[in-house]
Amino acid sequence: MKLENPFSMKRADFPEPVKALVGELKCLPGVGPRSAERIAVWLLQSPKANAPALAKSLLTAKETIRPCPICGFFATESGCELCEDPARDPMILCVVEQATDVLPLERSGAFRGRYHCLGGKLSPLDRVAPEDLRIPSLLRRIDDAAVEIEVILALGSDVEGEATANYLAELLRGRTCRLTRIAQGLPAGGGLEHADELTLMRAMQGRRSL
Ligand SMILES: [Zn+2]
Repeated sequence: MKLENPFSMKRADFPEPVKALVGELKCLPGVGPRSAERIAVWLLQSPKANAPALAKSLLTAKETIRPCPICGFFATESGCELCEDPARDPMILCVVEQATDVLPLERSGAFRGRYHCLGGKLSPLDRVAPEDLRIPSLLRRIDDAAVEIEVILALGSDVEGEATANYLAELLRGRTCRLTRIAQGLPAGGGLEHADELTLMRAMQGRRSL
């Protein structure tokens, strides 16, 4: 009996539907090729996996969630939880980079005003220019307010966050609003010895009387 040439043997791989699934999972942030395969196999084999429910919730979220035209937070067809809450103070507007930045602020319970999500931060490296951010709608909200409102810049302390804050400060100068910026300093539970110089400098600048 003549044996097949082992080098002409086709190497087996996942069937096409599994490859397609792995391909989609690989596109997810933080998921590499190996993790994508592991997740795909888990979805197919684990009794705990509920693939139809996952697919349904993904489709439903994708179809029903839109950025709120006013604040940019996640809104549903029935509206925006933030903009439509009459208990929120309309006199304070907190400007954040991303819609997801609203959540830690909300969880802190420190803020009960309204929000404006820019949808990013200025970054020449990533080709993010002012026209890519939700700045015109911010100016409109400030100009449309019947009274002078406080605009709090709650942007990141990285280079891009700084650049965005400086740009907005320049843009809002002369408009009827009171511009403030959240204090930056030491993280809770952290000692001085672990803080970098910039953090310490900002903590010192942001000091308040006791
Ligand atoms: Zn909204």
